Amino acid sequence: MDAAMKLNKYIEEATFDVKEQVKLFERTAIINQEKVLESFRQAKISNYHFQTSTGYGYGDVAREGIEEVFKIVFKAEKALVRGQLASGTHAIACCLYGLLRPGDKLISITGTPYDTLQSVLGNRSQVLGSLTDFGVQYQEVPLNFDLKPDLKGISCIISKEKPKLVLIQRSRGYHWRPSLSIKEIGSLIERVKEISPNTICFVDNCYGEFVEEKEPIEVGADIIAGSLIKNPGGGIATAGGYIVGKEELVELAAARLTAPGISGKVGATLVDPRLLFQGFFIAPHTVKQALVTAAYASSMFSLLGMEVSPMPTDDRTDIIQAIKLGSKEMLLAVCKAIQEISPIDSFLTPEPSPMAGYDDQVIMAGGTFIQGSSIELSADGPIREPYILFLQGALTSEHGKIAIDHVVKKLIETGII
Ligand SMILES: *Cc1c(COP(=O)(O)O)cnc(C)c1O
Repeated sequence: MDAAMKLNKYIEEATFDVKEQVKLFERTAIINQEKVLESFRQAKISNYHFQTSTGYGYGDVAREGIEEVFKIVFKAEKALVRGQLASGTHAIACCLYGLLRPGDKLISITGTPYDTLQSVLGNRSQVLGSLTDFGVQYQEVPLNFDLKPDLKGISCIISKEKPKLVLIQRSRGYHWRPSLSIKEIGSLIERVKEISPNTICFVDNCYGEFVEEKEPIEVGADIIAGSLIKNPGGGIATAGGYIVGKEELVELAAARLTAPGISGKVGATLVDPRLLFQGFFIAPHTVKQALVTAAYASSMFSLLGMEVSPMPTDDRTDIIQAIKLGSKEMLLAVCKAIQEISPIDSFLTPEPSPMAGYDDQVIMAGGTFIQGSSIELSADGPIREPYILFLQGALTSEHGKIAIDHVVKKLIETGII
């Protein structure tokens, strides 16, 4: 079989393979779109919400409007949605520093948290200004051999330590472990609260928004956070992060973002607020585009004989597709191909490099409209065995398909597979 025929055969098979899955994504997108639409109607969003503000940002209607719709959609008591939250890591850090005090215990119950949180925790090494440096006691419960949370271990440590806060990470991050479904998050929280009702359950919701019909607060989370250049920004928001949850907890996180006393009441909207509203409005649709792309990629790479997670027809709870490529050469080749089939910076070649917050060198491909946006098609991976590629996003499933087909074509052409 020549290269073109081989490629066509894979495309045909993969398209067929994910058909049913795509229908499920469509159903979820409609439910979430209704939810978002309803929040806009309820909050009476109007053109006057689309203005920036200056100075302290007192009486900032854009800020109040966007926080109202987030609050409604996530079923929270209070929301903090700000351009001043520099990233997902910053939003999460605001929660942890806002809620924890010296001597308090913090336990990650879903294994080792996302790479950029390591410096925040001060877990692996002494980091000045980390939570450990501030006297917070950090522990983690490793995942089970099946890469699922260790319920026994969790019950045991929660009974013993009665921690101030537990950290639950919904998405796999840069790990091979499967992401946690909303249902699994619900049972974890239930278990924690049974043993220790006062323990705050915090969920890192990055990459999870709008993938399922519910969000973590609906299954008992006290406070959650995420990034606006991932799912809830819809590929339109230009920067920012969000924190939603119980009123007094979000208030403490806000006091950390600005200062006690002024907390969430100040902070001018400098980012064009229309982009935040519009991005949030189309986010359920954009997330669907990303999911279609992820399932298709999963199918294509498994046809190529690679180990993938999730499998093409698995249920999903985040937008990440992990693919075990097995060699550095393959990782570089795939990233190069993704970059050259991107709308922006298609003429550049991605190179592995050190990145703030990450231990290993990382290669990142992503010719995105918004710098570092990973709801747009992007592929990255730490340069470490077994060379797992993490693929996420695509503003349109059409671009996603074109890109995946291009990658596979390149791999066949260069004889790498
Ligand atoms: C992306 C991500 C974060 C935050 O990363 P930023 O690049 O700072 O937005 C945190 N946790 C998980 C699981 C993530 O995927």
